[in-house]
Amino acid sequence: MTTTQAPVIKIHNLDHFFGSDNTRKQVLFDINLEIQAGEIVIMTGPSGSGKTTLLTLMGGLRSAQSGSLQILQQEINGATKPQLTKLRSNIGYIFQAHNLMSFLTAKQNVRMSLELHEHYLNGDLDQQAVSMLEAVGLEHRVDYFPHDLSGGQKQRVAIARALASRPKIVLADEPTAALDKKSGRDVVELMQTLAKEQGCTILIVTHDNRILDVADRIIYMEDGRLSQNTATTKSIS
Ligand code: ADP
Repeated sequence: MTTTQAPVIKIHNLDHFFGSDNTRKQVLFDINLEIQAGEIVIMTGPSGSGKTTLLTLMGGLRSAQSGSLQILQQEINGATKPQLTKLRSNIGYIFQAHNLMSFLTAKQNVRMSLELHEHYLNGDLDQQAVSMLEAVGLEHRVDYFPHDLSGGQKQRVAIARALASRPKIVLADEPTAALDKKSGRDVVELMQTLAKEQGCTILIVTHDNRILDVADRIIYMEDGRLSQNTATTKSIS
């Protein structure tokens, strides 16, 4: 059956530069990419090749100099601040260094993300934060502070926080980099399960070969160019 749904991420002829005048350096070259709703895509490739830059452009955290970048059918290149704020409410971010607030408990960290979306969420935010922590297997750690949690547990809180507001897209930058093999695997499988349950689309940037098989599709960045090879995990394993 062919799908008639528009892609949730659609990038066309995108270039990006850092610096200006004689320090100007092009880091992304003619990027073209479409990601469909519900896909789990892994972007891999050498360090310094432009993966994080592309991820931050997709998240509306910076603007590209030329080309088109549509997220949820809306052009974000050149979008206004209110449009970008609205876009970001549909995106969950997970970073390598989890970025939890050290002075807030696990529940308070997740609740804080819910508060940012309070205008369209109903009900008891504390209860929703606890439910999300239950979903990542941390029901016994809701009142713990980050320094009393293991690396894997902290990353689970970060996943709970990213997914609590039910974003349509999750952007994850090296989510397993600080974790041992088992914790890294658990964390990514958890992301996969929750994404399927919530029907969200995930893009993971990683160097971690151990998690490539969770992807529906793997894309490869090298020297600022995205490989158009649409290899699936089945064909590279
Ligand atoms: P990757 O995520 O693949 O490791 P990055 O997107 O972080 O690659 O970096 C791509 C290139 O852009 C690198 O050469 C890096 O040094 C450069 N770069 C990244 N961020 C900045 C910045 N804020 N200012 C200038 N150059 C940057």
